[in-house]
Amino acid sequence: MNLQNELEEIVDELKRYLEFQKSMGIKTVPAQKFAAQGSTPEVSKKKELRTNEPRTEPMAKTTTPLDEDIITIEEPADLFDSKTMTLEEIREEIGDCTRCQLHEGRTNLVFGDGNPKARLVFVGEGPGRDEDMQGKPFVGRSGKLLTKIIEAMGLTREDVYICNVVKCRPPNNRTPEPEEMSTCEQFLFKQIRFIKPEAIVCLGATAAKSILKTKASLGSLRGKFHMYCGSKLMVTYHPAALLRNPNFKKPAWEDMQVVMKELGLPLPKTK
Ligand code: URA
Repeated sequence: MNLQNELEEIVDELKRYLEFQKSMGIKTVPAQKFAAQGSTPEVSKKKELRTNEPRTEPMAKTTTPLDEDIITIEEPADLFDSKTMTLEEIREEIGDCTRCQLHEGRTNLVFGDGNPKARLVFVGEGPGRDEDMQGKPFVGRSGKLLTKIIEAMGLTREDVYICNVVKCRPPNNRTPEPEEMSTCEQFLFKQIRFIKPEAIVCLGATAAKSILKTKASLGSLRGKFHMYCGSKLMVTYHPAALLRNPNFKKPAWEDMQVVMKELGLPLPKTK
C-alpha cells in the first residue's frame, strides 16, 4: 500500500472511531500536548471523558481474564436432531406461537434479521415496542445505537445477524421470566446452529444468562471470549444500558474492538 492510501485509511478509521464516540455522547477525547519540539510531552493527569450525563455507577474495570473465568458451552445434544434446520424451517416451526404467555401481548413475532451467513451475530433480550410494531429486532432507540456500533466496527446491519432470546415483547419491556426464556431460547440456539458464526455478541445479561447458562454478573463476563458451540462469544452492555449510563460506553467499545480483532476487521488507529 502506498503512503497516500495508508494515510487515507488511517483518516477513514479515525473518522469512524470519532463518529462512534460522538454517537455515544462523548464530547472530548484525551490528547497529548507537546510544549515544544524535543521536550517531554505534557500528559494530562485527569484522564476523564466529559459527557452530558452524570456518573451514577462506578466505571467498569477491564481486567485480564483468568482461564477459570472462561465459560465453554458444548452443543446441547438433547435439543437438536442430526439435521440442522434452516432459518425458514425454524421460523416455520415457531409458527403462530402460543407456547408462553408473551404471545398474548404480541403484535408481531420478532424472529431475527440480517445475513444468514453472518460471521457475527448479535443477541439481545427481547423485542421492545418498536420491534413489536415492525416485526424486526433493534429498530428503536437502542437499535439505532446498535446500528452505530455495527457501523463503527466497519460493518453494516446487512453483514451481521441480529436476534433476541425471546421472540415476543414482554409487557412494558420487563425482563423475560426464566420460564419464557427456557421456552423460547431453543429457537435462538437453532438459529445460531444454522448460521455458525465466528463470533457472537451477547447484548446484556439476559442474553448471556440464556446462552452461557450462568448467573455471573455482566461485569465479570465481559471483556473476554467465552465459547459457545465453536463460536467465540463476547458479553457486553446492552445498548439500552449505554443510553442510560455513558460510563459503560468505553468498555463496550473495548469489547467490540476485541471482536473486531478476532474477525480481522481493521481497528481504528488513534495514536
Ligand atoms: N432490546 C432488545 O433486547 N432487543 C430488541 O430487539 C430491541 C431492544
